[in-house]
Amino acid sequence: DSFFLELPKVELHAHLNGSLSPATMLQLKRFHADSGLEDKTNAFFDEFQIGAGDSRNLTDCFQVFNIAHSLTSTPDALTIATRLTLQEFQDDGCCYLELRSTPRDTPQMTKIQYIETLVKAIQKSSLHLTMITRLIISINRKSPVAEVEEIATLAVEYYKKHPDVIVGIELSGDPMAGTFQSFVPALTRARNAGLKVTLHCGEVCNPVEVMEMLKFKPERLGHGTCIHPKYGGTEETWATLCELKIPVEVCLTSNVNTKSTPDYESHHFKLFYDADLPTIICTDDKGVFSTSLSQEYQICVKTFSLTSSQTARLALNACQYIFADNVRKTLNDKLLNFIGKHS
Ligand code: 5GP
Repeated sequence: DSFFLELPKVELHAHLNGSLSPATMLQLKRFHADSGLEDKTNAFFDEFQIGAGDSRNLTDCFQVFNIAHSLTSTPDALTIATRLTLQEFQDDGCCYLELRSTPRDTPQMTKIQYIETLVKAIQKSSLHLTMITRLIISINRKSPVAEVEEIATLAVEYYKKHPDVIVGIELSGDPMAGTFQSFVPALTRARNAGLKVTLHCGEVCNPVEVMEMLKFKPERLGHGTCIHPKYGGTEETWATLCELKIPVEVCLTSNVNTKSTPDYESHHFKLFYDADLPTIICTDDKGVFSTSLSQEYQICVKTFSLTSSQTARLALNACQYIFADNVRKTLNDKLLNFIGKHS
């Protein structure tokens, strides 16, 4: 449906290495072959996508990122992956993207080079794309404390160098690994330096941790699956979210395909929407879950019978929760212009 494609959309929850499309993965494989680099993906290539009805769950899903990682372990490959992925988001009608990614050391690249490569690729993209892109630095819950501190230090250092590109820091990775409290010092340091914070929150039932995260008052939350008492939260977690009104990035297909949510109809989006909580439609990992932002909007609208003005309002509201304050007005105007033409 062209309405969903044409709707100017804001993507606020997209992990780079989960967003690689089959076409991008093939280009990366070709690049590896042409450069004489080792390609370890052959036996696993078909396992990258987790479609509807796949037997794998959220925990299994963390294995598949290794497949993408093995194709983005040099600066040149990471540049190609970023360039192609940004182009795909723009082709899908995104006008603003906050891409997130976890800096890694590889045999061919340091974390510093990882960040510099992404910053450069994003800066270059502004020369030929109309979509505005910003970067959120990710921290993986599996990382030891020393590495978490190292990434926070780099995030602050590169935020100071490139405040036009880097806007935030986030916590992701296997929700069963690590404890939120152990990440608080690093996240606080980043926040005090000016970075905005978003946390994967309530992906699994853990109301104690959800409360700790809510009390931290991040600028946004990811998923928020187990916050309502009906879905593994408590009265307290739900009441606190309703009081604080922290915007939640919801990822419908990701949650359904990893079986965090049984089906679209029972997705917590509906509870959030009905409670008038700020909710943003996002893709999470468009490559792994074979989706796109326009498809996520379409699924949401069809599942919950939203009108076209409610849909446009959803897209417009998303602009209020972006981390790059200086482009909010531009995006708002773009959305209002679209709404004006379609009402
Ligand atoms: P990258 O940060 O390497 O660009 O993107 C892949 C990484 O994003 C994964 O290794 C994982 O840490 C994180 N990630 C991607 N999807 C999810 C998700 O649905 N939940 C959580 N908690 N982390 C995710």
